[in-house]
Amino acid sequence: MEIPFAALAALEGIEFCIIGAGPAGITCARSLAAKGRKVLLLEAGGWDWSEQSQDSFVGETIGDKYFDLDVCRLRYFGGASNHWAGWCRPLDAHEFAGKGVANIGRWPIRRSDLDPHLPAAMEIVEIGLPDADEPLKGGMLRKIDVSFSPPVRFAEKYRDEILASDRIFLCLDCNLTRMEVAGGAVASVAVENYAGAHASVTAKTFVLACGGIENSRLLLWCNAASGGALLKGQGDTVGRYWFEHHHATIGDAIVETGFVARRTDPDAPRGESMTLLALTPRMVAENDILSCSLRLHPTSGGAAKALLEDVACAAPNWANWAAGQLWTGQLCAHRLQATAEQEPRPDNRVALGGAVDRFGIPRVALHWSRSELDLRTLREAAKALGFYLAVQDIGRARLAPWVLGEAPYPDDVAIAACHHMGGTRMSDDPATGVVDRNCRLFGMGNLYVAGSSVFPGGGHGTPTLTIVQLALRLAEHLAADEAESQNVDSGAPASLHQ
Ligand SMILES: Cc1cc2nc3c(=O)[nH]c(=O)nc-3n(C[C@H](O)[C@H](O)[C@H](O)COP(=O)(O)OP(=O)(O)OC[C@H]3O[C@@H](n4cnc5c(N)ncnc54)[C@H](O)[C@@H]3O)c2cc1C
Repeated sequence: MEIPFAALAALEGIEFCIIGAGPAGITCARSLAAKGRKVLLLEAGGWDWSEQSQDSFVGETIGDKYFDLDVCRLRYFGGASNHWAGWCRPLDAHEFAGKGVANIGRWPIRRSDLDPHLPAAMEIVEIGLPDADEPLKGGMLRKIDVSFSPPVRFAEKYRDEILASDRIFLCLDCNLTRMEVAGGAVASVAVENYAGAHASVTAKTFVLACGGIENSRLLLWCNAASGGALLKGQGDTVGRYWFEHHHATIGDAIVETGFVARRTDPDAPRGESMTLLALTPRMVAENDILSCSLRLHPTSGGAAKALLEDVACAAPNWANWAAGQLWTGQLCAHRLQATAEQEPRPDNRVALGGAVDRFGIPRVALHWSRSELDLRTLREAAKALGFYLAVQDIGRARLAPWVLGEAPYPDDVAIAACHHMGGTRMSDDPATGVVDRNCRLFGMGNLYVAGSSVFPGGGHGTPTLTIVQLALRLAEHLAADEAESQNVDSGAPASLHQ
């Protein structure tokens, strides 16, 4: 049910308070409610987009060109699922192990820890299982499928269920502004609405689910506002090791029609899947690079003609033959688009900027740039595809000059994916992470973090299916933990009174 802001002050005995109603917060709240638990769900925005809420997402970016931070995020019920594209794929098992000698992006958990939650997560985002990967000759590339969610808008799908629920208590226009810490735990959180009203909410357990940038911003701010009482359990890690998925057009190619036989049309009706090419784990390991997937996007005949003219210099016979094949539809032209994992680095980070928002919270200063390893990954992936097409004699690729190191990296194209990961990364060691394997903030007994900010690495895939799996896992952990502590306390079960 929805409760007004004024009712917050009278609430007592709250077990779970979840802050943020995007895919992570909504999933965690629904899952706890399904286990018979009562949840208070606080959301900064209303049912729809509003300038007053969105303004708190304005921030600055420092480093490489990046999206405006109030454009690539949404601050109202449903969060960024109100405009996500719906591409889904579970993280591959090998992604959890980390890359290279430095174990870049290594998770303290394994895919088998998330697998039990895959069927429920797939039902939530309304996708089917992708087909099995198909290795290609040579061992460098494989065909993989991504599934399309319709895309599920969490606000539309779950609004009525939450309004009708007697276990989820939703308060809109309710902005987290402070956390009060006592005895190694969060005692209460301070919230404010747009009329300037304040309230304090106490709960046994808090879950921060405010998105892949905001989780770090709020922790940094609440720590500063509490005189450093919040972040005692870890070093200077909060906000750091932030990363994205690179997007880049790496060239074009003429390829045998049907080479990527499954789906290659991104505008295909939703609820279906599309086939991409991805580097194999062996290719990644042998070249000491990161994960990358490639999409062959059909293009016009003009691009094919230009490519053939180029190819004609080096391979005139092939170009001559290909021109005829293009004409009969046996070959077709494609733009090559890559999505690559980015190296989580301490310098890429969410920090507090100078200006403040209407609640007095410093705006985000996002430091983001690509590393040499990031670029080398794109370069090696492009070369692997070009090599494969030529060796199998099923096409030819023309790589962009920057891929070959002949021009600077372009910044006038799509640069990333709006996948905000890291900043509160998961680890078994407080010296290298912010939350433990159960997503609990090191040093705080009752504060958990939900969302892709806990990802230590992101592979090349999309994050939301994994976010939903993690939120289901967190709810299971919280319900079990709470049940255990109730047994130990042997007191009356806590309930939510109004
Ligand atoms: C254009 C675009 C396309 C995308 N496409 C894909 C895709 O194809 N596949 C994919 O997997 N992912 C995609 N994503 C990413 C996806 O949208 C996110 O991974 C997902 O929404 C994250 O869920 P979340 O709940 O962690 O965070 P959010 O969705 O960001 O939700 C956070 C919630 O917290 C609330 N909040 C913030 N601050 C406060 C506060 N102080 N107090 C209270 N509440 C607060 C916000 O209002 C919001 O409702 C896309 C994103 C964008 C922008």
